[in-house]
Amino acid sequence: MAAWEANVRKVIPYTPGEQPNRADIIKLNTNENPYPPAPGVARVLQKMDTEVLRKYPDPTAGALVSALSERYKMPEEQIFVGVGSDDVLAMSFLTFFNAKEPVLFPDITYSFYDVWAGLFHIPYECQPLDANFEIVTEDYLKPCGGIVIPNPNAPTGAEKELAQLERIIAANSDVIVIVDEAYIDFGGESAVRLISEYENLLVVQTFSKSRSLAGMRIGYAFGNEKLIKYLNDAKYSFNSYTMNTVTIAMGVEAVRDEAYFQETVGKVIATREWTKRELQRLGFVFPDSKSNFIFASHPKYPAKELFEALKQEGIYVRYFAKPRIDNYLRISIGTDEEMKALIAFLDEYVGENI
Ligand code: PMP
Repeated sequence: MAAWEANVRKVIPYTPGEQPNRADIIKLNTNENPYPPAPGVARVLQKMDTEVLRKYPDPTAGALVSALSERYKMPEEQIFVGVGSDDVLAMSFLTFFNAKEPVLFPDITYSFYDVWAGLFHIPYECQPLDANFEIVTEDYLKPCGGIVIPNPNAPTGAEKELAQLERIIAANSDVIVIVDEAYIDFGGESAVRLISEYENLLVVQTFSKSRSLAGMRIGYAFGNEKLIKYLNDAKYSFNSYTMNTVTIAMGVEAVRDEAYFQETVGKVIATREWTKRELQRLGFVFPDSKSNFIFASHPKYPAKELFEALKQEGIYVRYFAKPRIDNYLRISIGTDEEMKALIAFLDEYVGENI
């Protein structure tokens, strides 16, 4: 190793799901929404005068903050926006997790948390989910440097009851508790209404799932005015123009079309419930999902084998070769047709053996 390498900030990076450059596959591996974004989003592109690109974007992303403020009845001073919720979460780790005590999060969870902790040299301690893959409230009622909990959790899809989350938030008033609600719109109960009561609560959401805009990269956080000020101070010390002009305009259109949002979310939920019943019929077991994916295991067929067989068939799901979850497949909810094709294949594969 060269001498200079000793002082390199080394990290083991996050591994994103595969994005194969093929149109002929059924892509159920990265929890994208199978439906297009709201029609107004396409109109932004069609009408865009490229002259606007000559200038820097609005560093406050004011139009988007204002649209979110209106939709969620939240003062603008309590809203932070960023380049996907990954950016918002990374900025939150950097800003709020700065203690000697470890930050707490589940052992089975979004696999970016330990990467950011590593990058920013934040001590952390994983709290094991119980045998049913549920978060154990008591594990989070102890001195710590902060907490991050996804609700619903990923990759399990399981929702933690809001009353239990409130216990955790209330017991940790000395540190910041981040609730990562990437999947909340698919039937979970949001912690947003607790923000007025707890100044240590930050709720993070995204346009990538329920608003079909994973490709545009839009995320946001709601919290006490002081938290948002601290987040913006960190952001403006790093890169003022995180969100580009086109993205901001598209985000506004996506937030304003409430009817389309309700319709697509409703369709994904209905398809998820159908898929649950079919997977159950085939002998799969899974935590009850309140998200746009199902984390399923079959008692007779190893998940890795199923993963490979599905891929051969052009059906991509996600497999994690990690302790405790290496016999599970995370299956995103696609269109009815896509899920029917998945079930038809599984019917053939495991059907006669259930
Ligand atoms: N949180 C969780 C729990 C996720 O699964 C994801 C999706 N990978 C994200 C945050 C980040 O999503 P995005 O950056 O697209 O908003």
